[in-house]
Amino acid sequence: MEYRGFKCILFFNIFINSIFISEQNKEEVLLDMSASGSELGWLKWPDEDGWEMAQTVVNGSLHYNYFVCNVESPAGQDNWLRTTFIQRQPTATRVFVELRFVVRDCNSFNGASLTCKETFNLYASDSDVDIGTSFRKNHFRKVATIAPDEISRVGELKINTETRVVENLSRKGFYLAFQDIGACVALYSVRVYYKICPATIKSLAAFPETVAGGDKQNLRKVAGECVENAVSEDQPLIYCTVDGEWVVPVGQCQCRAGYAAAGDVCQGCQPGFFKADVSSEACQQCPANTQPSEAGALICPCQDGYYRAPTDLPSAGCSGLPSEPVDLAVTTVPSTVGKVTMSWSPPEDAGGRSDLTYHVTCERCDDSGCVPCEDRVRYEPGSTDLTDTSVLVSQLEPSVNYTFSVEARSGVSQFSNQRALSSITTSLHYTDPLKVTTMQLDERSSNSLSLSWTVSRKAAHNRYQLMYRKKDGEGETFSSGTTYTVLILENNWVQIGELAPATAYLFRVQAVNVDNSPVSDIMEHEFTTTAEAPNQGNTSVILGAAVGGGAMLLIVVVVLLIRKRRRGSHTRQGPEDTYFSPEQLKPLKTYVDPHTYEDPNTAVHKFTKEIHPSHVTKQKVIGAGEFGEVYRGILKVPGRKDLAVAVKTLKPGYSEKQRQDFLSEASIMGQFTHQNIIRLEGVVTKFKHAMIVTEYMENGALDKYLKDHDGEMSSTQLVGMLRGISAGMKYLSDMSYVHRDLAARNILVNCNMECKVSDFGLSRVLEDDPEGTYTTSGGKIPIRWTAPEAIAYRKFTSASDVWSFGIVMWEVMAFGERPYWDMSNHEVMKAINEAFRLPAPMDCPSAVYQLMLQCWQHDRSKRPRFPDIVSILDKLLKSPESLKAIADFDPRVSIRLPSTSGSDGSPFRSVSEWLESIKMSQYSENFSCAGVVSMEQVLQMKSEDIRNIGVRLPGHLKRIAYSILGLKDQTSTLSVFAV
Ligand code: AMP
Repeated sequence: MEYRGFKCILFFNIFINSIFISEQNKEEVLLDMSASGSELGWLKWPDEDGWEMAQTVVNGSLHYNYFVCNVESPAGQDNWLRTTFIQRQPTATRVFVELRFVVRDCNSFNGASLTCKETFNLYASDSDVDIGTSFRKNHFRKVATIAPDEISRVGELKINTETRVVENLSRKGFYLAFQDIGACVALYSVRVYYKICPATIKSLAAFPETVAGGDKQNLRKVAGECVENAVSEDQPLIYCTVDGEWVVPVGQCQCRAGYAAAGDVCQGCQPGFFKADVSSEACQQCPANTQPSEAGALICPCQDGYYRAPTDLPSAGCSGLPSEPVDLAVTTVPSTVGKVTMSWSPPEDAGGRSDLTYHVTCERCDDSGCVPCEDRVRYEPGSTDLTDTSVLVSQLEPSVNYTFSVEARSGVSQFSNQRALSSITTSLHYTDPLKVTTMQLDERSSNSLSLSWTVSRKAAHNRYQLMYRKKDGEGETFSSGTTYTVLILENNWVQIGELAPATAYLFRVQAVNVDNSPVSDIMEHEFTTTAEAPNQGNTSVILGAAVGGGAMLLIVVVVLLIRKRRRGSHTRQGPEDTYFSPEQLKPLKTYVDPHTYEDPNTAVHKFTKEIHPSHVTKQKVIGAGEFGEVYRGILKVPGRKDLAVAVKTLKPGYSEKQRQDFLSEASIMGQFTHQNIIRLEGVVTKFKHAMIVTEYMENGALDKYLKDHDGEMSSTQLVGMLRGISAGMKYLSDMSYVHRDLAARNILVNCNMECKVSDFGLSRVLEDDPEGTYTTSGGKIPIRWTAPEAIAYRKFTSASDVWSFGIVMWEVMAFGERPYWDMSNHEVMKAINEAFRLPAPMDCPSAVYQLMLQCWQHDRSKRPRFPDIVSILDKLLKSPESLKAIADFDPRVSIRLPSTSGSDGSPFRSVSEWLESIKMSQYSENFSCAGVVSMEQVLQMKSEDIRNIGVRLPGHLKRIAYSILGLKDQTSTLSVFAV
């Protein structure tokens, strides 16, 4: 008992407040002996003489402890103290047991027993249920022997703290037990706990609370989730250590676009800030030239007029369009032909970008407008995507006006229709004429001659006109009244065959001014063929052709059928020179048949401009077209001057096919830009009532205009009109467009008496046929205007358009008279096939009638081409003298008189009936006032008499005079052409 008293003092003096207080969140306590304010109820075995419970009051609180000190008892002590049932968390497979205890030094006991021990044992037992007071030692497994670090001698109180781990717990709960084997030990505190890693957010990933450690695990792998508005490619991971610490986070969560990290959350960017992608970056302030963004913005939108290139980063500011290049200059390249260097300086404002490129385009401009140069000029290093500020342009033709445009583009130009363009117009001129300097005979035989010549300078496209003829006398060598042959050559040599042996020929060669250089001097020579029989070897070179000449461009054998003046017989002259222009320009661009587009609407969009119907005001019906009425109207486009227009409408109830056919005329017209082609202003297609809007031609259709002004225009005026029509037709033929319905009714006249070709309804394109012709097996053919081959086998070509042009010439010169008068189509075809042709209209200049006859050559290859026609008409207009000679006129065939028509053969019953028949009724009063009231009196009248009664217009005067002439002629015939 002495010992027991000692023991009590020993243990009651312990400062209990110092016991361990678990760290919050890191430990989960399952059992805490010292915190229990009541008796613990632990099981002692044996119940007597083993462990004992003591209690003490510390700071007013009651504390319990257990002690045992059987050091002087017999050996073989085996005293057990077992805890109550400790419930376990399923994840807590491993618990910590922290013991605070005091062990007495065995030596401190007088006559220390040999059995005294200084250690005790810790045991554990798994169990699914609380087994109450039943206790079996063999259910326990030993966890550890607990030895104190310091033992307490007499008067000392050294508290030891030891922690042990109990592992592999698998049942719902467990018991701990303390075995004493003969020590003097007091157990002050037993604390059982497990550790946890608390729920945490690391690097924007949230990890759940996790029990530390596990079966043989020091680190527990834990998967987490990114916080709201954060993402990660891989699932974030982290490890929870045995000690309840998080270590080694793996994977990175980042805030998504429009959000940035603010502590452990992703917050939307503030207004005026943006974040374009998933990153750990902060939101950035909106860059230059952007509008302030809204909250959570991924990008800041550009201000108006500023753009971002597709490759621009959202962090880059928006950029403006570049201004146009400046200081555009063209310099010729010395000692070259047709080459210039174009240079410019970068735009003053690059729009804040460094990706500027330049794009050069070129147009050739003349009176009829501008067309793209396309591949007719070459650029070095190229024409697009230039980064340098100069380009070498070659293959320029002299005297052509070129307009070069340089456009500055940057990565944002694609977003605007505005073009930063500077243009400059230039043309190359030769001041010295291209001259033929020498001409020589290279070879000759009895029927051929080879000639060559030299020129004063090298040019890109030289062309030569060679004329030759037999020398048959003195005097002018190539004057009117002679017959000669004209060759247009591209080489400076020629071989001419089929000449007469031992005959002198005159040759004249002149450089043709294709480059508009001053007209060259003429070189003339006389060469004579040999007298010998033709040498087989030599002549074979000629290959039986009339002419061989390398790259011969064109051979025009012009036999000037000069009907020499029939001295004394007539005062009228024969036809004047028929001149064929050497000009043969390549087509500038080719017409595209709208029917080649699968969807005809594509052609309409491509070639026409859409007009809003509210901009079109219809004023008055002026005609009836194939598809509906034609109105005069006004086109009011905002920002443009009001324009008088013709508005073609599509009548209601049309089919889709009719609509397409109607609009196809616009698709065709829209491709043409020429002074003498009716100009398309635009179309209305997007609204119910489709319309075609063209320029307004005040004087309407030419046939009617001519009839209304019969005899009121001079030959020069009429030829001027024809010249305009031929220029329009030249333009169409250059574009490989065949009109197929050229007639005066399809020519429109404006207030300046300018004629323009219209009516493109029947048109067809020339396809890739080597002859450039197109045949078709359908369509109506206007017989009187159509060439025989087009009627016979539908061979419509520009040559058949030339035939029709001949008919238009006749219509014009006859003031709108119907070609072939009242003959039936069948009679017309028969007559044409029998080689009859329309006679010259009254008062028609001989040269003009000769040109008509050329247009009506049966062999279409012999007909002049439109460039030739333009050139001939130009020449006639330039020398009014050439129009003076009037073609032979036969009133019997040119004026249809009832008395000669054979309808009843009866003479006119009155003067007014006669005047009406020749469409001169307006002069009835003049005749009656002058007392001319019977046909007998009429037949007595002379030209002078007619003028005296007041018929002043030369055309009318002639018509009346010729009619009287015809009435007098007893040999009037029914046959129009048998003259
Ligand atoms: P179209 O359908 O082209 O044959 O036109 C029928 C008629 O409308 C023509 O004969 C002209 O009298 C008149 N017309 C057509 N287009 C115009 C225009 N641009 N200017 C004046 N009148 C026109």
